[in-house]
Amino acid sequence: MDLIELKNLQKTYHLGEVDVPVLKGISATVARGELVALMGASGSGKSTLMNLLGCLDRPTGGEYWLEGREISGLSARERARVRKQTIGFVFQSFNLLPRTTALENVMMPLTYSAEPLSERQMRERATALLSKVGLGDRVEHHPSQLSGGQQQRVAIARSLVNRPRLLLADEPTGNLDSRTSVDILKMFQDLNRTEGITIILVTHDPGVAHHAQRIIHIKDGLIEDGEAFAPEHEPPAVGGGRP
Ligand code: ADP
Ligand code: MG
Repeated sequence: MDLIELKNLQKTYHLGEVDVPVLKGISATVARGELVALMGASGSGKSTLMNLLGCLDRPTGGEYWLEGREISGLSARERARVRKQTIGFVFQSFNLLPRTTALENVMMPLTYSAEPLSERQMRERATALLSKVGLGDRVEHHPSQLSGGQQQRVAIARSLVNRPRLLLADEPTGNLDSRTSVDILKMFQDLNRTEGITIILVTHDPGVAHHAQRIIHIKDGLIEDGEAFAPEHEPPAVGGGRP
């Protein structure tokens, strides 16, 4: 069974009297365990699609099947539950709480999770994840005491704390230099390979996209033909920095 199946998915924003059609009928599947890049020019609807995939917003038409369940008909409360139990998020701007330690940032999603964990279990799980992303010696640091790459590692650890099956990363290297970007991309590849987490990586950068197994191109609200890469494919250099 596919993890994700999109059938003619549509999203039109309404601004006053004006309809702004952004997604015009997206049909696609993502299998369990895939690492997919979603590519398209700025304004092509990548973030809009990610918001739908992440159950943060609902489509205006079509169907979104996630783990065999149609999501677009669910209530906001049901969607929130699916989101917490299934999906992790990583953003371009890290979105860490500023006056809070790395450890507390990673623990934060656990405090409102359905799983009944003790304070000690939460600390243990968060500490293990920080070690996994190479920050075992930075657990008490605040975001302002960490580099951009380290902050994104904290954000990745946080995204994993509820053990998601799907990780959505929207331009995760957009604020990082090219060397740090490659480190972060390798971390995604590693998580995908060793934990089997399905990852969708949004980017406008071909060098970033080539770290995925497959690229889905979005243009004018529609999907263009995909490309698949052999694992030994030589990627172009990662641009890094802002567009
Ligand atoms: P991308 O992430 O590919 O740069 P977005 O999904 O952010 O693209 O935006 C796609 C289009 O949808 C843009 O033209 C943008 O102006 C419009 N858009 C995005 N969010 C909203 C919104 N909440 N209301 C109205 N228009 C929006
Ligand atoms: Mg975007």
